[in-house]
Amino acid sequence: KYPKPDGKLSFDKLSSVFISNTNHAEEQPAHLKLLDPSKPLNVNLPKYGEPARLYCPAGVYEVLYDEDGRSNPRFQINAQNCVHCKTCDIKDPSQNITWVTPEGAGGPTYPNM
Ligand code: SF4
Repeated sequence: KYPKPDGKLSFDKLSSVFISNTNHAEEQPAHLKLLDPSKPLNVNLPKYGEPARLYCPAGVYEVLYDEDGRSNPRFQINAQNCVHCKTCDIKDPSQNITWVTPEGAGGPTYPNM
C-alpha cells in the first residue's frame, strides 16, 4: 500500500495523464489489442488479480463490477488515455495484449518539457 498522492510531489494516475497531453482521435481503431478477449477475466483475474489495472501508469485497464462490487465483472480498456509506455505489451502474464502504433500523431506530447 502506498500513501495517497499529495498533489505536490506525487500525483494520481489521471492527473499525470492530463499533464502528458495525451490525445487519440475517438473513432480510430483500438491500438491495444487482445489476442483472446476472454483471458483478462477468465485467466488473469482469478490467477493474478488482473495486474494490468495496477501496472498501467495511465489507468487504461479497469475491471468494473456491478454496484455490489463483486458481481458481473467487465474488463474495460480506456485506450484514449494510453501514454505509449508499452508496459502492457511486455508485462501481461498471459502475453495477451499487443500494442500497435495508433493512427496519426495520437499519444502523449508533454508540452511543458
Ligand atoms: S502502453 Fe503503457 S500506458 Fe498504454 S495501455 Fe499499455 S501500460 Fe498503459
